[in-house]
Amino acid sequence: PAAETIFRMVAHRLAPAGALEGVLVSFLDISHVEEAEQMRRDFVANVSHELRSPLTVLSGFIETLQGSARDDAPARERFLAIMAQEARRMNRLVGDLLSLSKVEANERVRPRDVVRMADVIGATLAALRPQIEEEGIRLSVRGLAPGEGGELPGDRDQLEQVVHNLVENAIKYGGTGGAVRITLEAHASWPGFSGPVLTLAVADDGEGIDPIHLPRLTERFYRVDSHRSRQMGGTGLGLAIVKHIVNRHRGRLSIDSVRGKGTTFLLVLPRQ
Ligand code: ADP
Repeated sequence: PAAETIFRMVAHRLAPAGALEGVLVSFLDISHVEEAEQMRRDFVANVSHELRSPLTVLSGFIETLQGSARDDAPARERFLAIMAQEARRMNRLVGDLLSLSKVEANERVRPRDVVRMADVIGATLAALRPQIEEEGIRLSVRGLAPGEGGELPGDRDQLEQVVHNLVENAIKYGGTGGAVRITLEAHASWPGFSGPVLTLAVADDGEGIDPIHLPRLTERFYRVDSHRSRQMGGTGLGLAIVKHIVNRHRGRLSIDSVRGKGTTFLLVLPRQ
């Protein structure tokens, strides 16, 4: 009805006597453009906030070190340790932001290298070994032997980042002494996929996630408990990066969690 009213007004303006044969009116729905613009603004606000908090801590301690703590050696050591930790946090945040912008920039380009997922898992676990040992994690890995179909077209570095982020979360949120299970399987078919797939499950027996959070978990900076995430060195970008990389590989990520029992992240990746 609104379009018809506008049409009549335009037609009347152009040809008051009614001699006009037709008018072409074109409508463009810009609500999604506005939505994208809003998301961009939120993102910039989030990034600024995330960068500002370590900076505030750093400048606070610099002032203290220049003033009252100047000649207090034990205090100086303590403050410097906190400052180093905050600087590392900023470094991680900037690193994650760069990774995110890199995957977003070429999300449409399909990666073509042949990647062996067992190698990706092996490299990731080697990198996470210190954390696994420090936290006393009981790790179990079920992979695929060569020839069992564990290869897929992909981007090796990006897939390593996916596995790294998922396993690191399982260690962090699974808690000290927790169990982490990694299971890689090849399937000839999978619902929603037209060909063979690889599935990778990363499961922990931690506290789990309330179902209300699950739909938003892969949004940038979305955290169930911001304080806890920050304390553990989280940036709130890990799962957003995972989601973009999985999209780029035309895969799917699903999350299954039971409060008090644990969480399983299941990745399904096409093999063709
Ligand atoms: P962060 O840097 O905060 O870990 P992520 O994007 O990796 O950011 O994860 C987003 C949030 O999802 C986390 O803050 C945490 O609340 C929740 N989360 C992720 N993995 C798990 C897990 N294995 N168990 C419980 N909660 C998790």
